[in-house]
Amino acid sequence: MSLSKSQQLEYISHLVGECKKCNLYKTATNPVPGAGNPDAEILFIGEAPGAHEDQQGLPFVGNSGKLLDKLLNTIRVPRSDVFICNILKHRPPENRDPQESEIKVCTPYLKAQLKIIKPKIVITLGRFSMNYFFPQEKISRIHGQIRNITWQDLPLTIIPVYHPSAGLRNGAMLESLKKDFITIGKYLTAKG
Ligand code: SF4
Repeated sequence: MSLSKSQQLEYISHLVGECKKCNLYKTATNPVPGAGNPDAEILFIGEAPGAHEDQQGLPFVGNSGKLLDKLLNTIRVPRSDVFICNILKHRPPENRDPQESEIKVCTPYLKAQLKIIKPKIVITLGRFSMNYFFPQEKISRIHGQIRNITWQDLPLTIIPVYHPSAGLRNGAMLESLKKDFITIGKYLTAKG
């Protein structure tokens, strides 16, 4: 008997909960594997859990999450329709940047999630998740672009945008985010 998407995702969450492949599990309170609709057409990938996410074991529940909810409202996509996760599944101390070695050992979980969910659209939030698909690119150059790629045999439309936390710190980035979500909304409407 084959496992449902939801059971497969639960298994990945279980593996993340047991993971000791880098040191981040030692300082984190909870693992944050990701959450959302197993049949999501749209998948968001952020950077790493912050303090609120670490406390609750859920992605994007702090101020960045509130901003993401507002942006989702602007494109009339309910959060319950999408899946949201991060490049790293445990919080880096003091929210420091993910290290290359951590990304290397942690992203097989993200890869498994993508292969289970098979979303049509991936919206990367911030430079680390953008670099996962486009290692040579700069977010300042390609944010808001709609890029169709084949990744691991999956046809994906990737739309990179700035991370909501950047939008909270910087007014210009917030305007960029809003604009890029307008692009996303138009793309979704045109796609039907
Ligand atoms: S951050 Fe990723 S690789 Fe590191 S311990 Fe957590 S799940 Fe494992």
